[in-house]
Amino acid sequence: MAHDRNAFIKPHLIADGGSFELKHHRTDDGGWSRSKKKTGKLIQADIERLADLQEKLYAQDRWALLLIIQGMDAAGKDGIIKHVMSGVNPQGCDIRAFKVPSAEELDHDFLWRTTKALPERGRIGIFNRSYYEETLVVRVHPEILKNEKMPPALVTKAIWKERFEDINAFERYLARNGYAIRKFFLNVSRREQKARFLERIDEPEKNWKFSLGDVKEREYWHAYMEAFEDMIRHTATRHAPWVVVPSDNKPFARLVVAAVIIDALEQLHLEFPAVDAARRKELKNARALLEAEKG
Ligand code: AMP
Ligand code: MG
Repeated sequence: MAHDRNAFIKPHLIADGGSFELKHHRTDDGGWSRSKKKTGKLIQADIERLADLQEKLYAQDRWALLLIIQGMDAAGKDGIIKHVMSGVNPQGCDIRAFKVPSAEELDHDFLWRTTKALPERGRIGIFNRSYYEETLVVRVHPEILKNEKMPPALVTKAIWKERFEDINAFERYLARNGYAIRKFFLNVSRREQKARFLERIDEPEKNWKFSLGDVKEREYWHAYMEAFEDMIRHTATRHAPWVVVPSDNKPFARLVVAAVIIDALEQLHLEFPAVDAARRKELKNARALLEAEKG
């Protein structure tokens, strides 16, 4: 089936943050209408393509793919990881979630804990939240910054600009070392978040996901959106673009995320390692040995 992945990528991929404005990006699917069956087929095709590419990434063992997922509570961070990565070999995938930093983590620089969690070459690493929280929740709640144990003289008005600079330098460094990077902002509307919170309250199997704190955080919605916008403006680059994923419709969001990941891997021109003459001879000898075995 023809699957024009570009249509899912182009409107949402920001490779130069300069003039980014969140208001030009919808949270809904823009009237995208496909039957459930067709959507299912597209997603299935993506999952299979991803599995295929991941196998080559792993076999080749040169590049790594780093995927960063950010978004408000209930934006669908866990779900998107679960669905989009459902076909890939778990051995080639490292998924890490970053919560409120521990005392040990606060005793280090802000990139420390994520640096330790970077995927090895040949693997796909997924950060469910990341160092970008340092420009989001920490920016929206300045008291968190106060508790970070930074030397006070270094905490000035320039701190956000400095963090963006440091993140950009870090990501450029990673890119130069063989990391392909894609960053996803799961963009949900405040209304959709409310509907999802109500679902978490009403459905017993979803109760565990709900916390009262999440509802209180809704008061800061506007501040969060400003922080997301500023973050994308300052850190969307060619080697580490942001993808603003319309996330009110979950299947649509999955198609966008899957398309971007597939495209990122395709750009690496992955191939299984070439077999040279010496290696071919070795394989032939091994075959002869196996065949000569008795029994
Ligand atoms: P959840 O993903 O729902 O389990 O929530 C994790 C919580 O950790 C969220 O409220 C995040 O805002 C918070 N968090 C993640 N990273 C940081 C950080 N660097 N500083 C402060 N809070 C953080
Ligand atoms: Mg939460």
